[in-house]
Amino acid sequence: MINEDRLVKGFCKLVGTASVSGREGAVRDLLIKAMADRGLKATEDAAALTVNGESGNLLARIPGNAPGQKVLFAAHMDTVEPGEGVVAVVEAGIIRSQGDTILGSDDKAAIAALLEALDVLREKHLAFPDLELLFTVGEEQGLKGAKAFDFSVLQSEIGYVLDAGGEPGCIVIQSPCQNEIEYEVYGRAAHAGINPEEGLNAVHLAAKALSSMPSGRIDHDTTCNFGLIAGGKARNIVAEYCHVRGEARSLSRRKLDELTAALTQTFCDEVERQGGRAQTSITLLYPEISLKPDDEVVRLAASAARSIGLKPRLIKTGGGSDASIIHGAGIPCANLGVGMQKVHTCQEFIKLSDLSAVTRLILAIIQTAVEQNPDSNP
Ligand SMILES: [Zn+2]
Repeated sequence: MINEDRLVKGFCKLVGTASVSGREGAVRDLLIKAMADRGLKATEDAAALTVNGESGNLLARIPGNAPGQKVLFAAHMDTVEPGEGVVAVVEAGIIRSQGDTILGSDDKAAIAALLEALDVLREKHLAFPDLELLFTVGEEQGLKGAKAFDFSVLQSEIGYVLDAGGEPGCIVIQSPCQNEIEYEVYGRAAHAGINPEEGLNAVHLAAKALSSMPSGRIDHDTTCNFGLIAGGKARNIVAEYCHVRGEARSLSRRKLDELTAALTQTFCDEVERQGGRAQTSITLLYPEISLKPDDEVVRLAASAARSIGLKPRLIKTGGGSDASIIHGAGIPCANLGVGMQKVHTCQEFIKLSDLSAVTRLILAIIQTAVEQNPDSNP
């Protein structure tokens, strides 16, 4: 049903159009044109200002020709570096880069598949419900585009982000919430050799506090890591200031809140016990997704996968995605496996069979959304 040749050509054109985070303008223009060529309008929001990039997020609405669940599909336009001058090499059933750049199948495989699906819907006169396509910016910089998007403009009842590792058929039903944790420690400067007694070393205070805190895996659902530490002015000055940055994640919001509170309490108590002062700042970077196998958004994707001979695999992941933001905004949303492999490396590749499969999966989801509608006449 799908035109594999056209799909691969579309994919190669997308990856050949550079869109490193913050510089998505060329891909935005390509997509606006791709939509216009299909008689559709893609509108850009004002997120460029918020994310300080060339482009905002793009939204295209596709009015349906049949009743059914309104479905949102989302993919991100940006890539990591090195992402300039990507030349796709198609060989022995896989697509890879020339080895000196990433490929950009993360996430342009999803975009190419969505465009091909639109073409198939039209060519084969298939029934489809109202669809919304969201192409975000700055995903690789911490979901910046999605965070800046106004989800109240959407009408979709369920959403799928096409941005997970794993082959088509993988459905991410659990992903963590994450807090960014920052501690600032204030001590007292003094000369390290002449009068160290008058100083209070902020680096030492932070080290003592950290050494009494857990690190790494806390339990099955929960992790924490303090990954950055900076402070002091010179070797021979007792450090007056130290800055510690870390994170905590959990599949459970309650556990995240409890861990964050316990870490912060221990840190501050320890610093104060030694005579210093600590300031803390906690930011929720994204909320958790915790879907059940019988939630509509999961059941629909699983049944669509089965309908085209893919085995649905319900998985959990240790990181956030645009799905975290969409789900948090109130549209039940799952992240789906696209088949991209070794992403964020110059060895990134995707199998042609997976690129085709994810396109068929999109079409199957659309078809299932129509068929499962109670008003539809089978
Ligand atoms: Zn991605």
